[in-house]
Amino acid sequence: KSPAELEQFLLAKGGSLGKQTGRVAKVDKEQKSQASPRLFSLSSLQTEANRRYHASASQVLQAVQNLYENKFLSYPRTDCNYITDNEYAYLAQNLDRYQGLLPNSAEVKEQMKPLKAEKRYVDSGKVQEHHAIIMTKTVPSQAQMGKMSKLEGQVYDLVLRRTLEMFLKAYVYEKTTALINVGQLTFKASGNVSVNLGWKILEGPVKDAQLPPLEVGQELTAKLKEQEEETKPPAKFTEGSLITAMKTAGKTLDDEEAQDILKDVEGIGTEATRASTIEILKKRGYMQSRQNKLSVTPEGTILCKAAEAEPLLVSAQMTAQWEKALKQVGAKERSQDNFLGQIKKFISKMITEVPGKIQVDQGLQEEAQTRQAKTAAIGPCPVCKQGEITDKGKFYGCSNYRGGCHFTLPKKFAGKNMGKRIVKTLISKGKTDKLDGFVSKKSGQRYSAKLQLEGDKLSLVFD
Ligand SMILES: [Zn+2]
Repeated sequence: KSPAELEQFLLAKGGSLGKQTGRVAKVDKEQKSQASPRLFSLSSLQTEANRRYHASASQVLQAVQNLYENKFLSYPRTDCNYITDNEYAYLAQNLDRYQGLLPNSAEVKEQMKPLKAEKRYVDSGKVQEHHAIIMTKTVPSQAQMGKMSKLEGQVYDLVLRRTLEMFLKAYVYEKTTALINVGQLTFKASGNVSVNLGWKILEGPVKDAQLPPLEVGQELTAKLKEQEEETKPPAKFTEGSLITAMKTAGKTLDDEEAQDILKDVEGIGTEATRASTIEILKKRGYMQSRQNKLSVTPEGTILCKAAEAEPLLVSAQMTAQWEKALKQVGAKERSQDNFLGQIKKFISKMITEVPGKIQVDQGLQEEAQTRQAKTAAIGPCPVCKQGEITDKGKFYGCSNYRGGCHFTLPKKFAGKNMGKRIVKTLISKGKTDKLDGFVSKKSGQRYSAKLQLEGDKLSLVFD
């Protein structure tokens, strides 16, 4: 935690800051090989294009879509990383033409391995509707390449390289791990040396951490230094990483006792409930997922403010205390009634006190309302043409109510439930196709009719 503490630690282990003698205790060399990455699905292509060119997911989708419409790439909206033998066959047949698009095609040819469809890439059992994104048989000419937008060119190049890598040899390297002793301190150093580049020839320069030749018993000069670094803010959560964070929630708690308890119960929630907790937060509009990055909505911020006004509500320590109390109940050190009674007291206290404590500025409130209106909107209002028709619970109504538009549509009409799809058709086209399920009030008979909306008047049409 401090330089002084570090120096003390080193001293106790027979070392110190600065230069001293070290000895190589162990050297391990291992030859490793790495196959080329899997073929692109849309999301992995978006990830890669974002990493290399900082293109947004929707920009990449648009680029792939254009390349698909111009018949250079296969269908873009796929989550599959595999192709079938059919695609493999035509790719293999056209290899020379694809390779011709690369500046270093001669070197690439040297790395080719014998043709064989490998399960890592070619598996018809794993291809459902669409296969991975690959080149079509149509190889773009220089002129056609010139007509592509910058991003389209980059995306085509990414797909071209990734697909061709499947035909190249593995990347082979030697991994060396050395243990070096200084006093009773052991340091580990590792480095890779490329043996054969293989598919990496299509990925740009390989940056290996090199190690000098080392032998066991060899004496080295070790220089120990302290280094102060600053932490970086963590990356935004994806749904995957949030689940992991919930699972390991105890690790970031300050209170050591609370930390221990959460470690025992494995964080927040269980394997069975974590995903649905995230789903509920999204469904209720507190959180949204964009390009797989989770963020808090304005409503979520308001919820957080409520929680902030009453820190107990979100305190993991609170959870930890409850877990502790539950354990006591389990061990008969506390009665069930005592625990439930405390929870009841806690909840009624929250319900009375918290709403009065929340301070939400108007900007945030408006943001939340706009967002809600947008997500709930079924379509523009056909009457005032300014508001949006939204589901108001017991009926559908115009969001421009305060502006004077009182247009509503019922949830049930002539005995038939009016779903969102019917309302959407009505407000956009004024008339539906023939629908079943109307019920006569008098006879209870079911019948079919069309629904018609003229101005704000809804009626049945029989024709
Ligand atoms: Zn309206």
